[in-house]
Amino acid sequence: MNKNYTSTRDKQINISAKDAIKKGFADDGGLFVYPELNQLKVDLDQLKDLNYQQIASIILSKLLPDFSKEEIDSSIDQAYSNSFDTTDITPVVPVNNFFVLELFHGPTSAFKDVGLQMLPQLMKHVLGPDNKVMILTATSGDTGKAALEGFKNLDNMGITVFYPHNGVSKVQQLQMETTNGSNTEITAIRGNFDDAQSNVKKIFNDEKFEKELGPKVSLSSANSINIGRLIPQVVYYFDSYIQLVKKGSIKLGDKVNFTVPTGNFGDVLAGYYAKQMGLPVNKFIVASNENNVLTKFFQNGVYDRNMPFFQTVAPSMDIQISSNFERLLYYKSNEDTDYVNQLMADLEKDGRYQVSDEVLQSIKEDFYCGYATDKQIEESISEVYKQDNYLMDPHTAVGYKVMRDYQKLDDDTPTVLLSTASPYKFVRVVAQSILDAVPNDDLNAMQKLNDVTKLPIPKNLANVWNLPVLHEDVIDTDQMESYVKSKVEDQFYDKN
Ligand SMILES: *Cc1c(COP(=O)(O)O)cnc(C)c1O
Repeated sequence: MNKNYTSTRDKQINISAKDAIKKGFADDGGLFVYPELNQLKVDLDQLKDLNYQQIASIILSKLLPDFSKEEIDSSIDQAYSNSFDTTDITPVVPVNNFFVLELFHGPTSAFKDVGLQMLPQLMKHVLGPDNKVMILTATSGDTGKAALEGFKNLDNMGITVFYPHNGVSKVQQLQMETTNGSNTEITAIRGNFDDAQSNVKKIFNDEKFEKELGPKVSLSSANSINIGRLIPQVVYYFDSYIQLVKKGSIKLGDKVNFTVPTGNFGDVLAGYYAKQMGLPVNKFIVASNENNVLTKFFQNGVYDRNMPFFQTVAPSMDIQISSNFERLLYYKSNEDTDYVNQLMADLEKDGRYQVSDEVLQSIKEDFYCGYATDKQIEESISEVYKQDNYLMDPHTAVGYKVMRDYQKLDDDTPTVLLSTASPYKFVRVVAQSILDAVPNDDLNAMQKLNDVTKLPIPKNLANVWNLPVLHEDVIDTDQMESYVKSKVEDQFYDKN
């Protein structure tokens, strides 16, 4: 059986999971994918008495076949034994007639922690004795901080984060600016997330630049284009399903729906991996904010990013190019890499592509897609708080709104709503949605929200206001490459 990864744009590529994690993405610009995923079936019966870490061990061993069991288990241990504030790691909470899968109990209070506590641990087993790696990360707010916390102070690894200037919440900005650690570099860029992401990609594809960094330094990515970040996310789909079985909410083998707020399509793609591997899923309900390129794609099969970019109250999803959608196109075109290559060339050239009816229909069999406006986000936060006494963050609220739209189509399959951040991370919009009067500054808004709701503030968010600001750089997008170069020199060459 196959034990290697290939590229979405070239099936001749054959690369081990370790090398795929080290490189981040393929030289042809494509993403690494595991062919014939449905050969990796997981026996659900085997999972039914296991905890999160044990389930993780089984799933990761299948998807990372060249890692030893020892390497996988020690990585899981390091990633999840102390850093989450609950032993369940990702608890499932019943709310009204649906379930919330809370993915925000990690060190930075966003779901990114699940992948980014793990990726650096895997990376340790990938680097050779003389290798150094600089991780480049474009962030719409949450990935940056989660990656910084994951990679902080690890030997032979540095991390550089780019985020949109004035494009993240106050709390997110403070979280990044106050990061300590000897190997952490952070700068705002004058541009939006897509500008950050496309320029990071450009740096990766610049062979001349890679040579300038010297033979022992390589670049890699902490975005969900890296399989080392994506694959740990497959685990919570299996684990949440098993939690529902243990609670008696479903029987082993019953189908469930998952509702997933989406930006780069990484979170929901991990769910699709789980389904391919045998998890009984009926539909994935994919939810965007007003940057609704995907919703339009579901209507006519045209992916067209030529539309205005909106800054919404769910900023971690302010994305027009969902990178991981390329991986779905690979699977849904029956792994036709020439076809994917053509679509991506069209996207590059014209900002749009159109898929065949067959591919669109096949996607619609597994996925439903909709979106929520800012107003609907606030209404949803308020509605669920008043009805169910449950406080959602704005990204989760996007999912809630689209889930309710979908349920009007008469599907009563038990549904799990993925909650991707703590409401305190986006305190302004959450406070506006449920309080009559909102204090002007976010610190007071956070405290008032806590007084009214009695929901505890995660420690890392309560503390962020008191920490010294250590990073204040703002640069233009055309300075990103030279910024990386100088940081590589600082990290790996100037030190004695
Ligand atoms: C990153 C993020 C998302 C979107 O996840 P993708 O994997 O990019 O689709 C949703 N909500 C929050 C809070 C996030 O940080």
